[in-house]
Amino acid sequence: MKNDSMSLICQKILDSQRIAVTSHLRPDGDSICTSLSLAFMGELLGKEIKIINKDKTPFPLNNIPDIEKIQIGQIPGQGFDLVILLECANISRSGQESLDSYFKINIDHHHSNDYYADINWVDPEASAVAEMAYTMGEKLNIPFTPQIANHLYCAIVSDTGSFQFSNTSSRSFEVCHKLLDHGASSIQIAELLFNNNSPEKIKLLGHVLSTLQMNQKGNITTITMFKENLDTLQLKEVDTEDITTLARSIKGVQMVLFFKEVEKNTFRISLRSKGKANAAFVAENFGGGGHLHAAGFTVTGEYQKLLKEIPETVAQLLKKQPKTIPDKQKDITPY
Ligand code: AMP
Ligand code: MN
Repeated sequence: MKNDSMSLICQKILDSQRIAVTSHLRPDGDSICTSLSLAFMGELLGKEIKIINKDKTPFPLNNIPDIEKIQIGQIPGQGFDLVILLECANISRSGQESLDSYFKINIDHHHSNDYYADINWVDPEASAVAEMAYTMGEKLNIPFTPQIANHLYCAIVSDTGSFQFSNTSSRSFEVCHKLLDHGASSIQIAELLFNNNSPEKIKLLGHVLSTLQMNQKGNITTITMFKENLDTLQLKEVDTEDITTLARSIKGVQMVLFFKEVEKNTFRISLRSKGKANAAFVAENFGGGGHLHAAGFTVTGEYQKLLKEIPETVAQLLKKQPKTIPDKQKDITPY
């Protein structure tokens, strides 16, 4: 079945000339780099490819080679033979508003997908859509250039958290093995993704980690980022995923609650968990939602009170979380 959709997609690409590629709001390493790889693969097939995303590319991905190929805005209502949507569970996730009249292809690797397109290829076994794009490239006999290989490799490293998340499979390594043989540079990608921080970001990391508290049992940890931290360091948009990852690395910790002050007495709480601890189940209890290992919700109240009460409630919820995981929570992370 999955090969059927893929074959239909390959045929549709071969039959099209002008192709638009888009991905989700707040795009990530997988969606950005897979889009770029598809653009170069398409060009090798003699196609005109445009990548158009609603949201701009976040740091550090905005520094990757070829990033200028990505346009920010809306796909015009006409002018393309085909629109490919990457990692979009539904059309609204793309932020694109004029796709009604187009032939659409939906390529995703998340469980929760609405199968809204003319051809849908959804493979939750794939660690990244890049893995799927690689398989498609092989089927189309694309000669993988070092440039294409680099983008696909970068996407898989991003989405597997450097092969640490449980979506990492032997196939991820097999594809990356081949990508390195095709000229992808693991060092260049590691430098770009992980050694590109500003001094302000590392200072922020210090401030946030200095707020770290553990519950008595040692399975829940909290960290906090105050608005003031961002203001004094003149940081606007900042990726804090690595800060959470450090808190989650503490032995015995099942769940990190990252309090992010939005305004006085309002906090967005990002949950990150590991093992069986279900972050989505906890977040839903507070009116939010998300995935097995990454979820979120918003709370209002006095900080010290929240800091005491929320971890206590979370501890209770972890004890009574159901053993079975609903399909919509099955994806480990949102990526
Ligand atoms: P974040 O911690 O903001 O990166 O969010 C992690 C995941 O949780 C993403 O899939 C979000 O869509 C989801 N999420 C965060 N906050 C909420 C919320 N208030 N309601 C539903 N889902 C949320
Ligand atoms: Mn992905």
